[in-house]
Amino acid sequence: MSNRMLAIVKSNPQKGISVKEIPIPEPAKGELLVKVKLASICGTDINIYDWNSWAKLHIEPPIVVGHEIVGEVVKINGQNPNKIKVGDLVSSETHIYCGKCQQCKIGNKHICENMQLFGIGRNGGFAEYATIPIRTTWKNDKRIPLEAMSSQEPLGNAVHVVKTADVKGKSVLVTGLGPTGLCAVAVAKAYGAKKVIALNRGEYRRKLGRKMGADEVFAELPGKYSNKVDVVLEMSGNENAIQTALEAVRIAGTMIVFGIPKQEVALDLGKYFIDKELTVKGVFGRKIWDTWFEVSKLLTSGKVDLTKMITHKFKLKDFEKAMQVMKSGECGKILLVP
Ligand SMILES: [Zn+2]
Ligand SMILES: [Zn+2]
Repeated sequence: MSNRMLAIVKSNPQKGISVKEIPIPEPAKGELLVKVKLASICGTDINIYDWNSWAKLHIEPPIVVGHEIVGEVVKINGQNPNKIKVGDLVSSETHIYCGKCQQCKIGNKHICENMQLFGIGRNGGFAEYATIPIRTTWKNDKRIPLEAMSSQEPLGNAVHVVKTADVKGKSVLVTGLGPTGLCAVAVAKAYGAKKVIALNRGEYRRKLGRKMGADEVFAELPGKYSNKVDVVLEMSGNENAIQTALEAVRIAGTMIVFGIPKQEVALDLGKYFIDKELTVKGVFGRKIWDTWFEVSKLLTSGKVDLTKMITHKFKLKDFEKAMQVMKSGECGKILLVP
């Protein structure tokens, strides 16, 4: 093989992204090298592309972007307690934990105090090859469709959100049908929600919400749901959606907040949090590896079918086109093929 590869690189601290030829990386001690089979675009990648305030805070160009991938292991360098072999199909946990801080030691690796991010703080996987720390590599069950493997990260987010809420037998409102919101709809149904109502402005994703199992979808929530919903899963980070969610959730209900607002949001603590005696919990990422086992179960059992929300496939070199579709909101998951 030639020693160069195609990669999507954030080269400069400004809007945009470049398709580049760069050397194939060598796995350092404790890392493995994968030949990337498929990757999927995440909302985070839009932030990086746009070079918004979040990106400026988290990224030091140049960096190979992309964190949702599936690849075949071609080289392993170092101790390998997970018994991963050359030829295995693996994905990477985006959250590269340190393993040493207090949170890591008490089973909260996903909120490690010294977290490094794959495809954000270090080179990621929108490339023909990528290196991944062995400790954050997940070996995929080969019964899962290859096309679903790269999107286990957002599905994992949804699983962590839904499990935190306890939705069995309850009415659930999902606000925001981006890819993770769409996953949340499917996971809430899989975990026994009595009724799933979904809210999204764009029609394209409302249709996808239906496809993923939502019982009802709305651009604006009808007034009849005011104070009626048992559980709200806030996946949008949108201020209007957050206000709608707070209005819809019933007294003594539960609200999980996952979508990150782009700016500060004003909240009426008295009216909603105190008077309703709400349980509000923030959720970040996925439990490592508890959530991944759950995700694997959902995918191998067919309880969740991620392929239903894959709407586009682009060659890696056509990343710019893929990003424009992603930004339009007229898509589900978009796959990239190196
Ligand atoms: Zn992601
Ligand atoms: Zn740590």
